[in-house]
Amino acid sequence: MSELQSLGLRLVDTTAGVASRRGGAGPSDHKAVTVDGHTIMVPVHTSTAWSSPFVAQAPDAQGRSVITRDAIPIASVSFPRQPRFYGLQTLDGVPYSHIATLHGADVLATTVLQTCIRYESRKKTCQFCSIGQSLAAGRTIAHKTPQQLAEVARMAVLLDGVKHMVLTTGTPNATDRGAAILCDSARAIKAAVDLPIQGQCEPPDDDAWFARMKAAGIDTLGMHLEVVTPAVRERIMPGKASVPIARYLSAFEAAVQVFGRGQVSSYILAGLGDSREAILDMSARLAALGVYPFVVPFVPISGTPLESHPAPSPEFMRSVLEPLGHIVREAGLRSSDIKAGCGKCGACSSMSVYES
Ligand code: SF4
Repeated sequence: MSELQSLGLRLVDTTAGVASRRGGAGPSDHKAVTVDGHTIMVPVHTSTAWSSPFVAQAPDAQGRSVITRDAIPIASVSFPRQPRFYGLQTLDGVPYSHIATLHGADVLATTVLQTCIRYESRKKTCQFCSIGQSLAAGRTIAHKTPQQLAEVARMAVLLDGVKHMVLTTGTPNATDRGAAILCDSARAIKAAVDLPIQGQCEPPDDDAWFARMKAAGIDTLGMHLEVVTPAVRERIMPGKASVPIARYLSAFEAAVQVFGRGQVSSYILAGLGDSREAILDMSARLAALGVYPFVVPFVPISGTPLESHPAPSPEFMRSVLEPLGHIVREAGLRSSDIKAGCGKCGACSSMSVYES
């Protein structure tokens, strides 16, 4: 699985399964693929994927597709079907798929605010991020209202049985950094449907936001370091690096008090310049605080400044994920205990394989 995620997949039939996402936050340029009962997000539109040795043949009548490596069949996979809620639209004519999308097998995910103070200047933008691309291409809307999110969440549960929801956001300001918008969204969703929610934002300037987020219906919180070495942070995400790692650590401590051990997490993108040791050191610090370190392979997204940056090799990922599995086990953290969000879904990393 980690080789597929590192090297990507070429598709003989690009229409198979759920339409792949291009641009936006989260696993852009990916497609959901189910291998051995696990659904993972695999890069399909990246430059790495175009030269991948893995090819998915056109699916048969049952939706199963054979994956070949250098023309030799190596696995049988399936593609999750297009969810039914994608066929609906709001009364004012916005397709539900422009408001939220299906991630992995059963996660509803949305970028509540598709703009970001860090994205407005080339100097400040996170070099890996494509949050503005799906907006520019008309595949989403800039601000999903609480009412729209509630309506889509309810129908995605009723029609497609989604099990949890991820609310991420561009950073709207340098104060609450998105916490307020997540509260408004979660409150409306929880009033409409009983669905566990993960909120994802930068650490707000005031720890009081954690209790407000919890009271609004957010069950788990992601505050994503992305990269962990100060010099690499400055280079890869000059705007976001203005929030120092020390603030992330103090915010993690405060957030765990509110959400509980294992219900706070941090996405770390391996392959952007952090050494294996730096990733593992930070992961051990996070795990000791009760924060789940969700380490995923960096995927170069077309149209971003890092589109030609190589994805990490399967060997590098294995050298990180194997000891990481030990770190999270020792800390008593398990993806299956997480109530909602990326760590629970796990489709962007093969980390959970190393956890057990
Ligand atoms: S791990 Fe997170 S970003 Fe990746 S598919 Fe799952 S919910 Fe989406």
